[in-house]
Amino acid sequence: MNEQIPILLVEDEPHIAQGIIYNLQAEDYLVTHVESGEAALEHLQNHTCALIILDLMLPGIDGLEVCRQIREQGNQIAILMLTARGEEDDRIAGLSEGADDYLPKPFNLKEFLLRVSSLLRRSNWQPTIKKQLCFGRNCIDLENHLAETANGQLQLTELEIKMLQQFINNEGKLITRGELLQSVWGMQPDTETRTLDNFIVRLRKYFEIDPTKPQHFLTIRGRGYRFDSGNIEN
Ligand code: CA
Repeated sequence: MNEQIPILLVEDEPHIAQGIIYNLQAEDYLVTHVESGEAALEHLQNHTCALIILDLMLPGIDGLEVCRQIREQGNQIAILMLTARGEEDDRIAGLSEGADDYLPKPFNLKEFLLRVSSLLRRSNWQPTIKKQLCFGRNCIDLENHLAETANGQLQLTELEIKMLQQFINNEGKLITRGELLQSVWGMQPDTETRTLDNFIVRLRKYFEIDPTKPQHFLTIRGRGYRFDSGNIEN
């Protein structure tokens, strides 16, 4: 499971929004939908995203104003503006306010998705990759595959790092055996293998104070595992 690319959709027409959300989610993007420019600007104060799909005609401030404000703040996020069909002035205005691309409505969904992916390729969106993770008495250097543990320093293998990454990205959530087999080993989710169990045993030996009473790498009986760094405040 890769980290999903977050996209902010600013669209006040429910039917259009629904279609867009459905199609973006089918491509595995993480969509946040707001219905006004004000809500979009507010969202951007506390969240990062890779791309904004911005309707031009909005209640309150319009898409152009949203675009202007985003650029004024020095935010270089990719913006795809949705305009009315054939309104050349709108397109030019959108581009001059800093939109990266525009698409007149109604649009072909395939074309829409192609433009989204090409904008994302061109944008310099980098998912926030954590370089270091500390939990319990452990600190893991994910780049150099090194871990400082209560038992001293360890060199981790590629697969161990890959597996840790899955746990970290999904902290607090159930990860099924199938998901781990698929994402770490590229195996079919229903593969019968002890490999995974052996890995969990090893991670516990490395990182748990008492491997028989794990605090971090928890078994969810009959379903899979859950990682708890103990760092998240409730
Ligand atoms: Ca609209």
